[in-house]
Amino acid sequence: MISVLVSRITPEGILLEGEDKFNFNGDVSENILSAPLIKYKLRISLIDNGIVATGSASTIITCTCDRCTDVFDKTIINNEICHFYEKTNKNEIDLTDDIHEDILILFPHKLLCNDLCKGICFKCGKKLNVEKCICNIDSEDASTWNSLNKLKL
Ligand SMILES: [Zn+2]
Ligand SMILES: [Zn+2]
Repeated sequence: MISVLVSRITPEGILLEGEDKFNFNGDVSENILSAPLIKYKLRISLIDNGIVATGSASTIITCTCDRCTDVFDKTIINNEICHFYEKTNKNEIDLTDDIHEDILILFPHKLLCNDLCKGICFKCGKKLNVEKCICNIDSEDASTWNSLNKLKL
């Protein structure tokens, strides 16, 4: 839980820093294996009718590549966090959902180990980042050669 006690906030503002368990639900993508922690560093300031939280939060997600299925880690950072909370009679303000949401909205739709990831060959199952296969070339060449052979005959 990420929270702040209003009574602790000094006129110059305070720094709120720490880690929180990240309970994202797997619906985001089944290829995200884990995102254990959110790290946050927020500046909490008092203003007339409430408080403002600004700063950054980040997490490292472990996921499988949509193309080649390799497992890799990806860092997600939001440096533009800014939330306003109106003053109520409660002393404790809960920032948890907002900060988690700030990270969730940055989860990529496509999870690629590398933008240039070549993926897996549909025919032979080789990982094309690691080794080349001749499936595509083979079929094209084969047909070309076949027609050439026919011409010769
Ligand atoms: Zn990949
Ligand atoms: Zn192949």
